[in-house]
Amino acid sequence: MVRRHLIARDILDRSCRIRAEGEYLLIPVTRMVSEAVCGDFECLPEQKDLARFEHIGGIAIMQDDDPAGAADILSMRPGLHTVLYAESAVTGLFRTKQFRVLAGEDTTATEYIEYGRRFRIDLSVAYFSARLSGERQRILHLMNTGERVVDMFAGVGPFAITLAEKASVVFAGDINPDAVLLMTRNISLNRLRNVIPVLSDAIHLPDIIPGQAVRIIMNLPLDTIPFLAAAFRLCRPGGMIHLYALVSAEDECMNTIHAFPVRSVQPRFVRSYSPDRFHVVYDIIKGDDPVQDV
Ligand code: SAM
Repeated sequence: MVRRHLIARDILDRSCRIRAEGEYLLIPVTRMVSEAVCGDFECLPEQKDLARFEHIGGIAIMQDDDPAGAADILSMRPGLHTVLYAESAVTGLFRTKQFRVLAGEDTTATEYIEYGRRFRIDLSVAYFSARLSGERQRILHLMNTGERVVDMFAGVGPFAITLAEKASVVFAGDINPDAVLLMTRNISLNRLRNVIPVLSDAIHLPDIIPGQAVRIIMNLPLDTIPFLAAAFRLCRPGGMIHLYALVSAEDECMNTIHAFPVRSVQPRFVRSYSPDRFHVVYDIIKGDDPVQDV
């Protein structure tokens, strides 16, 4: 209340730290006002405009190779331990990036918390992005309790571990051994007993996982279509497949999807990727296909 009053009168001194003295709170002002007393205040570090960065746990990822900007970020964000620069785009089978440490601890590993769930991640060995946290919540809210779920490209487990809250079981596959190792740690970190990590090429999952599931997650946006037949084999009729893709038009994958037994398909914009491409998720309800499902 007092602080707001001082701001309104334009006499709050923002360069110093407010401090407690006995039962009083001392607020620094820029000039003498009636009833003010003289006192010493600690100077706050100079406020600077920070360069843009993505924040995951204790790590900041900068878009530019800017060591001075990295040092500023580290000094002004006490929760961070490392600032990285991504030297490459997402590449290779494991969808990882190459990073260089610009400031702080020499590591690409950190712990990230999403809606109370803890994830141990290591960005140089296994893919992780916080950008789909909203999608994970959306799908969790769509679920009914007791669903059987398959996450075909599970990485370190963010979808699998989130959806485990309502699922009876989640089979979580990935081809990257480091991702599966981190996922296994994350399963115990979150004290879960209903997530089963599977180290495998997703194409083989229908031959590995017993029976069919109610919900399938396909998060391999650059190359998901070749795995659609496996997803349909894994999904029971009436079940839902969430297929993430990188597209230039929302209906880009519709013809391919409709080559399978489909009851309905709902495309949804997820986020922009570049000026002419964006992430979309197709929520596909599988139709009846007695020949395929016997
Ligand atoms: N779902 C995770 C997430 O949201 O953080 C990871 C998604 S990442 C875009 C794709 C994952 O698919 C990577 O962890 C990669 O190792 C894995 N992957 C790539 N090709 C695969 C394949 N043929 N079979 C199984 N996993 C694969």
